[in-house]
Amino acid sequence: MTQTFDLLVIGGGSGGIATAVQAAQYGAKCAVIEMQQLGGTCVNLGCVPKKMMWYASHIAEWLGKAEDYAFHLPHPPSFDWSQFVNRRQQYIEHLRTIYTKRLGTHRIHHITGQAQFSDHRTVVVSGQSYTAPHIVIATGSEPLMPAMPGIEHTINSDGFFALTKQPNNVVVVGGGYIGVELAGMLNALGSRVHLLLRHGNPLSRFDPMLGRCVYELYQQQGIHLVCDHQATEFHKTDQGLITVHCAGGDCITDIDCVLLAIGRKPRTQALNLSAAGVSTDERGVIPTDAYENTNVSGIYAIGDVNGKPALTPVAIAAGRHLAARLFGNQTDAHLNYDWIPTVVFSHPPVGSVGLSEPRAIELFGADQVTVYETQFTPLMDALCSQKLSTHMKLVTTGDKQKVVGCHLVGYGVDEMLQGFAVAIQMGACKSDFDQTLAIHPTSAEELVTLKKPREVS
Ligand code: NDP
Repeated sequence: MTQTFDLLVIGGGSGGIATAVQAAQYGAKCAVIEMQQLGGTCVNLGCVPKKMMWYASHIAEWLGKAEDYAFHLPHPPSFDWSQFVNRRQQYIEHLRTIYTKRLGTHRIHHITGQAQFSDHRTVVVSGQSYTAPHIVIATGSEPLMPAMPGIEHTINSDGFFALTKQPNNVVVVGGGYIGVELAGMLNALGSRVHLLLRHGNPLSRFDPMLGRCVYELYQQQGIHLVCDHQATEFHKTDQGLITVHCAGGDCITDIDCVLLAIGRKPRTQALNLSAAGVSTDERGVIPTDAYENTNVSGIYAIGDVNGKPALTPVAIAAGRHLAARLFGNQTDAHLNYDWIPTVVFSHPPVGSVGLSEPRAIELFGADQVTVYETQFTPLMDALCSQKLSTHMKLVTTGDKQKVVGCHLVGYGVDEMLQGFAVAIQMGACKSDFDQTLAIHPTSAEELVTLKKPREVS
């Protein structure tokens, strides 16, 4: 017999669970369908294990500076990768139990299995039918693994989190979020890293200053950046090592781990969307309007599947707004996608909110854009032999110099950005920054003491 709910959510990741919990708090009878572990990419194969790896590599980085601060440690300090991975996974297991409990607390039915639409109101899981007037697709995404010769010798970010042994000599393909983050971590932990970029600088979708700086900072830290190189083939030798062949004939040899980080694709193939009449584009993305409606009334898509910024807080916020609209009488509730702060956990980290300089010029014209930029050695590195400079940029528009973009790379910017994002979202102008007293001595104070604008071209 078909079971009936007010809301069916397909996908038990951060976005799906947030939607169901919010809807349940408004009194809706909800079910979450998940075929794997609760928590989705963020908890199991993304943000959380990644941030723990980042902390480990951050500690390694700090230990590297210990000598400069007159601590005498064994050199290099040893890192037990497999012990660390065990501890990390125990914590993840703990988070999964919290998610299971949360569903129970809110009386949300947890259905395990692969969901398939049989019509626009009905979903089937392991032969059992479930129906609801509202169905949210929140199935997330998975790494892109194109058909290439020797692709079976490579891993992706999922494979990275499954590594129980630290690789020695790694090629990371792709200079986006994941490539830059994993390259930085592996390098800080002592692996030899080659970062393969098909074009010039990494982080091509950010303000150009960030990619340029990350390039220089990574080079300074010993990462081998290989620009304008497209991997075409992976070959495993009899010794078990991999050769990465690139277009044009160059190759990188003696690699024990090739990590592909060239983007992700929405997980929509197995849902039998055609039975419900839900449209996708050629990549499998489900287009949605500002209210997360798909082309079929009563079916919505949030998170990585809808092609909007693929970030956990975005999926959570979109889902909560949707639940408020459907069950909380907030008929206009929807997420404003304009000001999304984001951090790349590189070494040092990158933070960005708002418009890049080129985008601001495109939208407002060069004569309306004023840019403030600074570069300095953080005090942390004053005593250190290796000095990793911090870079900051504010993009402003109009006579009042409204701040429309803030782009940072350096120690601590990951924690620094959130507060500035509040000010920028509220419409702060450069004068508001100037009137804010500095906290001394910090790196953040540089953002409220920026003096001379830079020429905009
Ligand atoms: P991104 O889209 O961020 O970057 C993909 C990278 O791969 C780009 O450098 C791109 O180059 C390159 N690339 C694409 N296709 C190819 C190809 N065929 N051959 C070689 N290189 C290629 O994807 P990621 O996989 O890094 O991350 C996926 C998403 O996950 C991110 O966009 C982000 O939304 C999310 N994420 C967020 C994190 C965070 O918040 N800290 C951390 C990790 C992931 P080019 O620049 O030239 O296009």
